[in-house]
Amino acid sequence: MLLVQKFGGSSVATPSHIAEVAKKIQQVLSRGHQVVVVVSAMGDSTDHLVDLAEALVAIPSGREMDALLCTGELVTTALLAMKLEQLGIPARSFSGSQAGIHTSYDFGRARIESIDPALLRKALAAGITPVVAGFQGVTATGDVATLGRGGSDLTAIALAGALNADRCEIYSDVAGVYTADPRIVPDAVPLSCLSYDEMLELASQGAQVLQTQAVAYAKGNQVVIHARSTFHDEPGTQIEAEPVIPVKPAVTAVAINRHVAKVGLLGVPDSPGVAALLFSVLAEHGINIELVIQSVSHDNLNDIAFTIDEQDVPRARSLVEQCLVTLHGKAVVIDDKVAKISAIGSGMLGQPGVAARVFKALADSDINIQMIGTSEIKISCIVARQDAEKGLAEIHNAFGLNGLVDVIEDPQ
Ligand code: ADP
Ligand code: ASP
Ligand code: MG
Repeated sequence: MLLVQKFGGSSVATPSHIAEVAKKIQQVLSRGHQVVVVVSAMGDSTDHLVDLAEALVAIPSGREMDALLCTGELVTTALLAMKLEQLGIPARSFSGSQAGIHTSYDFGRARIESIDPALLRKALAAGITPVVAGFQGVTATGDVATLGRGGSDLTAIALAGALNADRCEIYSDVAGVYTADPRIVPDAVPLSCLSYDEMLELASQGAQVLQTQAVAYAKGNQVVIHARSTFHDEPGTQIEAEPVIPVKPAVTAVAINRHVAKVGLLGVPDSPGVAALLFSVLAEHGINIELVIQSVSHDNLNDIAFTIDEQDVPRARSLVEQCLVTLHGKAVVIDDKVAKISAIGSGMLGQPGVAARVFKALADSDINIQMIGTSEIKISCIVARQDAEKGLAEIHNAFGLNGLVDVIEDPQ
């Protein structure tokens, strides 16, 4: 079997963690499998690199920022490869460029455009274990570009697809994807399987265990993902197109995003083109809008509210204030102390009453819902940030999510 195994930052945080990962790889190789290893930067080192840049320059250029950030992963590749060599395993470190990952020019959030893993194939054929730097690729003109935070997941999934690997395993400090972030909801349990769509919603609603773009890539290229723990032997979670589960619960998991802000425009005209103007201006400045509500018109006036990422607040404030003047509106209100909690599950498709149960769970603990958004398999509520973790736990309880443990077979 050919396995792609990705080890995240916490799995390679120290030299002794790297030594443990090397032993884990040695065990897999001793069973006769081939492995392409993908690694993240050690611990929080990417954050430290960001801090270094920010200490010098307020807005560094994308190219130089990526030239800096890619170094974290390079450090880990060399360290792990030399440790493997010391264990008697032929190994070689590869940058994203050497691994043949070709990207767009969107520095900091580059897309993978093509993959030519010829050098990796050559190494494997020669009995050498490649250790690839995650999170990075190279543009057509040879500049390093990074794939967005958490992007080593994408590297692993893309390489698994390009190499037609038998398994793509994403190792982290948790035993797979849980019914909620186990750091926030301690009685959350690991799920044995999830669909790509559920995982996409979970990841985009704040569950950082897998990068959203990586899950989208896996869905587009039909790469089955196994999310597992580096240091414990539990079977983990399998993410695939249509997992076979005997009884589908209405809600599979819950997620929280604390980095949300609510923006309201009060008293704007109730006439065609108002929303178009506002959201076009925000879109032109690259500000992503999430939930939107518009009040029922009163006196030919409307209130429009929407959510954005909290880091976009300073830019959004001045743009929205300019729109208010253009539209002769009454006021702008911004609340950056809100959070979004979401219940996700493909079992809610066509099942009435799921939203009501979510709202009741919040009402029973006296949590006010400020905004609501839904998709076919998701119900999201904006609440005060101070209530959000409690609300998340209440929804988790209301759907009995701590009793879902079931196990998939481990083929290793
Ligand atoms: P790595 O550094 O290995 O890439 P991450 O820190 O990106 O790992 O992802 C693992 C973290 O994701 C866990 O420590 C956990 O706190 C968080 N997390 C959030 N939601 C979930 C969830 N539903 N299931 C598991 N972990 C989650
Ligand atoms: N090191 C990068 C980050 O911290 C990429 C990754 O870990 O996946 O975002
Ligand atoms: Mg990660």
